Amino acid sequence: MSYIKKTDPEIYEYIEREKIRQAEGIELIPSENYTSPAVMEACGSILTNKYSEGYPFKRYYGGQENIDHIESIAIGRAKKLFGADHANVQPYSGSPANAAIYFAVLEFGDTVMGLKLDHGGHITHGLPIAYSGKAYNFVQYEVDINTGRIDMEEVRKLAKKHKPKLIIAGFTAYPRDIEWKKFKEIADEVGAMTMADISHTAGLIASKVLESPVPYFDIIMTTTHKTLRGPRGAIILCKEKFAKAIDKAVFPGFQGGPHEHTIAGKAIAFHEAMQPEFKKYSEQVKKNAYHLAEKLKEKGFNLVSDGTDTHLILIDLTNKNVPGRKAQEALDTVGITLNKNTIPGEPRSPMDPSGIRLGTPAITTRRMREPGMEQIADWIDRVISNIDNTDLHRKIKEEVKELCLNFPVPGIKI
Ligand SMILES: *Cc1c(COP(=O)(O)O)cnc(C)c1O
Repeated sequence: MSYIKKTDPEIYEYIEREKIRQAEGIELIPSENYTSPAVMEACGSILTNKYSEGYPFKRYYGGQENIDHIESIAIGRAKKLFGADHANVQPYSGSPANAAIYFAVLEFGDTVMGLKLDHGGHITHGLPIAYSGKAYNFVQYEVDINTGRIDMEEVRKLAKKHKPKLIIAGFTAYPRDIEWKKFKEIADEVGAMTMADISHTAGLIASKVLESPVPYFDIIMTTTHKTLRGPRGAIILCKEKFAKAIDKAVFPGFQGGPHEHTIAGKAIAFHEAMQPEFKKYSEQVKKNAYHLAEKLKEKGFNLVSDGTDTHLILIDLTNKNVPGRKAQEALDTVGITLNKNTIPGEPRSPMDPSGIRLGTPAITTRRMREPGMEQIADWIDRVISNIDNTDLHRKIKEEVKELCLNFPVPGIKI
């Protein structure tokens, strides 16, 4: 950081402070992770200087003799990691990748099915005020309020009624396994295409800890920065039949020059995800989430769907009489970071909903295991049960910091 320190002390100061925050706090936001120093080196490399509109060996600018190889390697690894026919590694992030997919296979106004936002869907899956909801006719399915799980018979009924051109599965706040094969059967019954958005679970799917939609689904999108533990960005995988349409929709349909420094980071992350240690990591992410969920239940917390099959836990705080925002803010003061979240059938507003969402990808990267989960459940319980006791919060902050110093964050030395 010596150059930043000299050139821009103001930004340097905040990066240093953020380093300390990341090292001394417990990161439970389920979409976050700590990427490796190798990935960070690629993202901070001279590759940021290069323009490379087009695709490997078919570019609009000169000087591509190195870039073409980097992007080809990234494509090859993405295909191998997920067993896909085709990969596009250029999407800047998950949201533009989803928009590009819609642009590739739909006409404006076409009917699409996606999970409703307050039931665990993503804003790009048809939120009325978002691009997706404005450009396409989204029909939104829900989870069963009693079980917290997707009711596949409801999905089938809605599909038969609305005859969507595309059905989306894969979510942002859903703690359970997804029945990919059933979604595909329903899609076939109504002649719909299928799109899986595995942004949250891609790392666990790559490790075969969760079932993959790749054998069944037409198109798969994932971000690369969540459980997959790569740089911020996304990739699109698809069956050969959709390859041309997807590539044309990403460039020139939706994007200009690809970010080759990030693509190099993606290639490195895919290589890392193929190693045996990554499989162990993914298995532990799931074990930690299960253990944390069980401990929270013992302390009287209500979990949506009563548990988890993945890295993610959704707590309904209604019985604790503490709204999600207040819980998030109090936990922030002790160094435990998570996010307030709507619960299925949310009676409150999205800015101050009834729940909190948490997950284990980042703490598992720090090598925390079951004893750490017990400790974290205990702190969450003590903070929420004593929501206004700032003396206690200060004491817990010290305990959190002490635990964290025994579990270094990759790439951070303090
Ligand atoms: C995170 C996420 C996205 C969007 O990713 P961004 O990189 O934040 O744009 C899309 N879909 C799902 C299901 C996600 O969880």
